[in-house]
Amino acid sequence: MNESVVAEMERLNAEVESCTRCPLHLNTTHGVPGEGPYDADIMLVGEGPGFNEDKQGRPFVGAAGRFLEELLAIPHLKRTDVYITNVVKHRPPNNRDPEPAELAACRVYLDRQIELIDPKVIVTLGRYSLAIFFPGDKISTVHGRIRELHGRHFFNMYHPAAALHQQALRQTLLDDMRRLADFIQGPMKDLPKEGAEAPDATTGDPEQLSFF
Ligand code: URA
Repeated sequence: MNESVVAEMERLNAEVESCTRCPLHLNTTHGVPGEGPYDADIMLVGEGPGFNEDKQGRPFVGAAGRFLEELLAIPHLKRTDVYITNVVKHRPPNNRDPEPAELAACRVYLDRQIELIDPKVIVTLGRYSLAIFFPGDKISTVHGRIRELHGRHFFNMYHPAAALHQQALRQTLLDDMRRLADFIQGPMKDLPKEGAEAPDATTGDPEQLSFF
């Protein structure tokens, strides 16, 4: 693996741990930068750390994480095969939704992670992650499809935690993951690892691809 990528990612992880860019770091135990291979083809972007994630400094280690692992098993992936992160890197108090200023303050980390890891596909989990890249889109209409934004492929999914509260969404998530598996095991293999531009939501002109 590229040594400068490793060094930059480790610097970023340390910066997240000591970040004071917004008040979210107050009353938390750890920053949660993300985890997984620094050359992963697949990056999953969730919302923000919860209670267990804050305690352990690792993303998706609670109940939602267990369902995420079940979903990843569909394309025969383990969590160690993918890079997992969140749009905000510190736990919002009482797991409340992240606020616009917090999302904006934390965006710099996600942008750097995307640039350094350069994943072939970014999987957004939930509406906050969707909104970072595709502002204005509704998860109910865009989930379950491969899309392209500035040369980078995206796949939008409901948040796995939603299935813990709404049983009907569990089947939707399983069905969507089967579609993502078709892409991972098919067209994604032929994609070059390098060359995608950094996604820029401000000029977003998402293109619906016709793989499915
Ligand atoms: N939910 C998220 O969005 N991220 C986590 O890391 C855990 C739960």
